[in-house]
Amino acid sequence: MTRSAVLERLRRAYIVDESGCWLWTRSVQTAGYGQILVEGRRWLAHRLIYTLLVGEIPEGMVVDHVCRTRRCVNPAHLQVVTVKQNCEHRAGSTSGGSGVRGVTRDRRTGRWLAQVKHNRVSHFVGRFDRLEDAALAVASKRRELFTNSLADKAA
Ligand SMILES: [Zn+2]
Repeated sequence: MTRSAVLERLRRAYIVDESGCWLWTRSVQTAGYGQILVEGRRWLAHRLIYTLLVGEIPEGMVVDHVCRTRRCVNPAHLQVVTVKQNCEHRAGSTSGGSGVRGVTRDRRTGRWLAQVKHNRVSHFVGRFDRLEDAALAVASKRRELFTNSLADKAA
């Protein structure tokens, strides 16, 4: 498989949200990172994209998500750091277990709860079986709220 064919496959496997994250919509491993099989080899999606678009990841280094969204594969949100630096970043993470801002897992039902905070008000968006549906719903609700508040200001 050529580099461009792999990139083409990758491009069809994420959606861009309003914060610029490229959210992986395909298979996700238990830790919440996107994964993809290329010629029989299992890759973490963000590491593969980083390797193809930015360059080799030096031995002993890990790719860290600056945006704290594990499903994100945008190389501009990725940073190669030492394992120690990565753990320090993680201590401040607030993603609620989904890796997607505004989406948390309902421990009781195992479904994904989507909500959006806007002007300090929490808007309930819905419950979803699939994380990507919850992520899409959150992104579209944010756009809607944002558009409405722009309209209020213009009125
Ligand atoms: Zn991101």
